[in-house]
Amino acid sequence: NRQILLAKRPAGMPTEENFSFVETAVPKLQAGQLLVNTLYLSVDPYMRGRMNDRKTYVPPYALNEMITGGVVGQVEESLAEGFVPGDIVLGNFGWALYNVAAAASVKKVNPDLAPISTALGVLGMPGLTAYYGLLDIGQPKEGETVVVSGAAGAVGMLVGQIAKIKGARAVGIAGSDEKINYLVEELGFDAAVNYKKGDLRQQLKEACPSGVDIYFDNVGGTVSDAVLSLINKGTRIPLCGRISLYNLEQADIGPRIQTQLLINSALMQGFIVSNYAEQAEEGLNQMAQWLKEGKINYTETITEGFDNIPKAFLGLFCGENTGKQLIKIADP
Ligand code: NDP
Repeated sequence: NRQILLAKRPAGMPTEENFSFVETAVPKLQAGQLLVNTLYLSVDPYMRGRMNDRKTYVPPYALNEMITGGVVGQVEESLAEGFVPGDIVLGNFGWALYNVAAAASVKKVNPDLAPISTALGVLGMPGLTAYYGLLDIGQPKEGETVVVSGAAGAVGMLVGQIAKIKGARAVGIAGSDEKINYLVEELGFDAAVNYKKGDLRQQLKEACPSGVDIYFDNVGGTVSDAVLSLINKGTRIPLCGRISLYNLEQADIGPRIQTQLLINSALMQGFIVSNYAEQAEEGLNQMAQWLKEGKINYTETITEGFDNIPKAFLGLFCGENTGKQLIKIADP
């Protein structure tokens, strides 16, 4: 078996030196366990937080232990009732070619519903994040303007499309002209702006002639400063992520525009997708329905090969992915 461990805690932006590869034997299965062959593995921005020696809403990764995250795999051996070799499962597993997992900790994936990789994206954790963050906290209404940062990523691309389904205007912020074009041309966003080019506030002002009613914030920092300067009375701000700040060695003090929140009676509310664990099935069913009806589209950036996992992870912080970043290890 091949595994990836956390070799060293990063200071600032991580590098490949923070990871190490080891060869190990596959342990013998016990009753109730499955041997799962990794097919697709997810890298996610929250993993950066777990590399620090600081508890957030999940404990940090331990040094010289396997990194863990979302995996779609195939059961190779089963000592658990209800699972047979060939079953496709989703679990929180180690970065390894093979994992031994308690059957109770995995979820079966229905390969007839959608491509199995979507269990890590549109029909998985990022899908639920977009769905509940926007609908429960954002509560978009017809004709309102929804701005989303990190718009061409796994969560952001779905936020804009759900906003459209609810009759709102969707405006995306992303880091390249290709991404901007993708959002408008392929996903039906009403407008999108490139935060790396020109005056972001001015661009947003033009893209949001009636101001901002909902800001779904994936990035924080100066991008969010620009959006917050344009909010309307009663704006709702689902605080989903802070990717522009995850690699800072000195904590950021923002938001710097609290006065805007005050004078507009705006609501900014942080959330963690696991808050919605009990409603997850309902959200996933709705997303699957929209996918089937062609109301939601998605894209994946698929990196091939186990040894490229760290590189794909680091790419998240340089905008190398469009849509959900996955690593493909094997075919079913
Ligand atoms: P993405 O697929 O959006 O990948 C990350 C993207 O962030 C990159 O492609 C890049 O796009 C953008 N980015 C990277 N660095 C910066 C920067 N300095 N400033 C602005 N944009 C940057 O990731 P996810 O969709 O999986 O996650 C999006 C956010 O949501 C993250 O902050 C994540 O932590 C958070 N999240 C929160 C959850 C929760 O429960 N609250 C659950 C899931 C995700 P670009 O080219 O546009 O710069």
